[in-house]
Amino acid sequence: MATASFDTAAREAGAVPAIEKTPDFLPEAVPAGRSSLVGLTREDLKARLAAIGVSEREQRMRAGQVWHWLNVRGARDFSDMTNVGKGLKAQLSEAYTLDRPEVVTEQVSRDGTRKWLLRMPPANRHEHNRGAEIECVYIPGRGRGTLCVSSQVGCTLTCSFCHTGTQRLVRNLTAAEITAQVVVARDRLNDWAGLNPTAPGADETRRPVTNIVFMGMGEPLYNADNVIDAVGVMADQEGLGLSRRRITVSTSGVVPQMQRLGTDAHAMLAISLHAVRDDLRDTLVPLNRKYPLAELIAACRAYPGLNNARRITFEYVMLKGVNDSDADARELVRLLKGIPAKINLIPFNPWPGSAYQCSEWERIERFAEIVYDAGYASPVRTPRGRDILAACGQLKSETEKLRARARMMLDEGLGAEGFYAAPDESDDD
Ligand code: SAH
Ligand code: SF4
Repeated sequence: MATASFDTAAREAGAVPAIEKTPDFLPEAVPAGRSSLVGLTREDLKARLAAIGVSEREQRMRAGQVWHWLNVRGARDFSDMTNVGKGLKAQLSEAYTLDRPEVVTEQVSRDGTRKWLLRMPPANRHEHNRGAEIECVYIPGRGRGTLCVSSQVGCTLTCSFCHTGTQRLVRNLTAAEITAQVVVARDRLNDWAGLNPTAPGADETRRPVTNIVFMGMGEPLYNADNVIDAVGVMADQEGLGLSRRRITVSTSGVVPQMQRLGTDAHAMLAISLHAVRDDLRDTLVPLNRKYPLAELIAACRAYPGLNNARRITFEYVMLKGVNDSDADARELVRLLKGIPAKINLIPFNPWPGSAYQCSEWERIERFAEIVYDAGYASPVRTPRGRDILAACGQLKSETEKLRARARMMLDEGLGAEGFYAAPDESDDD
């Protein structure tokens, strides 16, 4: 776990975590019991069918049927799969499950944002009997529902303004675990074919999931293989059916993986820029020491498929007195000149112990004006779900609090189940 122990002293000295890619910690002993088919790629699903003896000739057709039940209908039980033969259904349920990650808690913000703490089944011997926990956030909007998914448990990068970066990395999520977050959201929102997530024009807080952003926990491009596979499953038009143009992968600037994201996933790209000078970006986003601004911007210019309809989003967190001057705004515009781009100014979301403050509103407005005058429309992103610590960079807080409280209750002999809130089934009506 060398990559996970990027200690505080090294961090304060501004050192860059010495990793190129997070190790996967692939199962050294496959956990006992049946594994879930939820979230698998078509190839993996076929392999699971082959493993229970489905002939090569039949695999394609059978996989297509099961795929439909999993990803269009959201089946929770093999018995729902009416066009799959009795014998195969029995074999499937003997060998596999349709389990989703467990919803440990659901929090609903005043603005309709929902944050789920999800527990994955144990994936390897390092996790013993307790699966990894991650957070996933659903943000309803006008005519859209955006799901913010996690790609890793924690993050090895240590951006100084980000709470997730203070959490020790446990591991990469598998492609299935990333995709399963969409499945959970669709379950919770009743958003499957044949169901009705919301009557037309009614509850604004329950829009179907239409957009995916990889802006939860983790650096997606340190887990690029699984992220690319997950995008493939999400964008399968005979499955989860999302549009690749509505799937955005955000990176802090892992330059060598950016090209692949364009060619292999055709996903939209977001760059966590946050500073326009190397000296400042080195401290805010330490990965900048490895891939400085010039390299990052060159990789952006070369991103496959860029045009005015497929722009790169540049995220810029507004930190009081740090990166929010008029000169910074002008330099930002200059730096991005010629790149089909959107600029998102993100008011800094504070977290306990953070060293920064959010810029004053007047400052953000002035900064936005300079950006707007350069031709970028509505650049300020309204923070969502702040009251439940679901906004950008706040993920982890609740999980950590839960752990502390659960530990306390265990110490008091109450047992964890005495504390964890059961998912509120009434929300599925
Ligand atoms: N690791 C990836 C994706 C997850 S972070 C990345 O860094 O791009 C999602 C976005 O939230 C990034 O732009 C990140 O810089 C931003 N962010 C992190 N902490 C924040 C905070 N406290 N306030 C506002 N935005 C933050
Ligand atoms: Fe990791 Fe992104 Fe947070 Fe940086 S901003 S620590 S890359 S999650």
